[in-house]
Amino acid sequence: ELILAIETSCDETSAAIIKNGREILSNVVSSQIESHKRFGGVVPEIASRHHVEQMTIIIEQAMKEADVTFENLSAVAVTEGPGLVGALLIGVSAAKAIAFAHDLPLIGVHHIAGHIYANQLVQPLSFPLLALVVSGGHTELVYMKEDGSFSIIGETRDDAVGEAYDKVARTLGLPYPGGPHIDRLAAEGSETIDFPRSWLEADSYDFSFSGLKSSVINTLHNYKQRGEEVKIEDVAASFQASVIDVLVGKTKKAVREFEVKQLLLAGGVAANKGLRAALEKEFATADVDLLIPPLSLCTDNAAMIGAAASVKWKKSEFASYDLNGNPGLDLEKA
Ligand code: ATP
Ligand code: MG
Ligand code: FE
Repeated sequence: ELILAIETSCDETSAAIIKNGREILSNVVSSQIESHKRFGGVVPEIASRHHVEQMTIIIEQAMKEADVTFENLSAVAVTEGPGLVGALLIGVSAAKAIAFAHDLPLIGVHHIAGHIYANQLVQPLSFPLLALVVSGGHTELVYMKEDGSFSIIGETRDDAVGEAYDKVARTLGLPYPGGPHIDRLAAEGSETIDFPRSWLEADSYDFSFSGLKSSVINTLHNYKQRGEEVKIEDVAASFQASVIDVLVGKTKKAVREFEVKQLLLAGGVAANKGLRAALEKEFATADVDLLIPPLSLCTDNAAMIGAAASVKWKKSEFASYDLNGNPGLDLEKA
């Protein structure tokens, strides 16, 4: 099967052609980061306008690169949610128009299902599996008994990991998005500051990062008041060490308890070099198979949406023309 997939949930306009849920024939991503940078974050109105301007160009390019016509397609898939409602709507409208015009089945995909299924573009999935989802808006441990079945066993109670990275980066005066900058600086620094680890209750797989974020901000403030210098490389390294300790610690416990075959890393923060290395080290000798997507498939892209859509295509789980952008879409019900 051949799926045209569209992703516009946040600040990347993307279209991809995916064959049999695993092979990327094209994956065109147009990032708007430059337009949002001067505001220090994504401005929803600007994001929507960019999507409108880029959408048809990106779709045409994806079709051309893959050398396919609309007649070759099996279905059109699109991110239905979560995300910015105005941004989602652009992709959903484009997908509906194409589905209607070319009489193709329409598939609505949950954005986080997409992040998880990015791993299927690397290696076939085997179940049961556990996915550690770390992105700009989500931090979750997801148990999957089988294809298309998602059960959230733990999630953040406040900030998402990516959000904490971006806020800490902002305090350090780094440009948006700050995650990659902190990652780079952390590699040059050492863990000289003992930031807190938020483990929560002993039996909980939930996360919390707002305390850590405040602790970084307070520590910087105290240094400044005392007129002392602090290397931002060391702040980055110390912050990242705290994040990684908790993520890896909870994941390790869940892998043991749920006896999964595979552990998948997913979401934008999966691009983090420190986290990738820590997981690789932790699970090198374990029974579980660790899957980590290449950097280009970690941050938002349509290829991952096409991979997740393939599961729905096989089950004929098609959407009707009243499909809408749904900012609060529930992964467990998607
Ligand atoms: P969601 O997927 O939850 O809807 P989103 O789509 O906005 O949110 P992604 O695009 O998946 O988020 O990921 C973007 C986030 O990843 C940003 O917070 C960014 O700072 C972070 N990020 C990207 N690269 C790295 C890195 N190397 N280290 C840490 N964080 C990173
Ligand atoms: Mg983004
Ligand atoms: Fe995302």
